[in-house]
Amino acid sequence: MEYMFTPWRRKYVVDGVAEEGCVFCRLAADESARDRLLETEHWYLCLNAYPYCNGHLMLVSKNHLRWLSELSSAALAEMAPLLARAEAALRQAYDPEGMNMGINFADAGGAGVPGHLHIHLLPRWAGDTNFMTSVAQTRILPESLEQSFDRIEKALAG
Ligand SMILES: [Zn+2]
Repeated sequence: MEYMFTPWRRKYVVDGVAEEGCVFCRLAADESARDRLLETEHWYLCLNAYPYCNGHLMLVSKNHLRWLSELSSAALAEMAPLLARAEAALRQAYDPEGMNMGINFADAGGAGVPGHLHIHLLPRWAGDTNFMTSVAQTRILPESLEQSFDRIEKALAG
């Protein structure tokens, strides 16, 4: 393992400035993106492109920050109402029996995009981890991402 020290980048990391090559920063910066289900000053809601199940949402910080404790108080204040709204939309759209909501922090915490804070919301059903997922590492998704988007967008509006 080689290390390259880049202390001049520290101010960008600390200030949460968009990072080149970060998929969430790119999505946040793209004004034309139809991928965002809704957005506020500090967050946007989108579908996970690699979902564990249909309706797998992510609430993503617009700033490139890793930890909850790095968020501004304004961003923190926006977060809970957005999560509640997304939860309500998923319940309306999918009528799930349960739900997971969670954050994987950094590499060691299992984050897919380790440098950029995002919160997962997944509708769940009893017995939904099926044979294909457990044995063949393959997920069967009955609905396309476009269908999920339309369904959740409708639920958010209603
Ligand atoms: Zn980022």
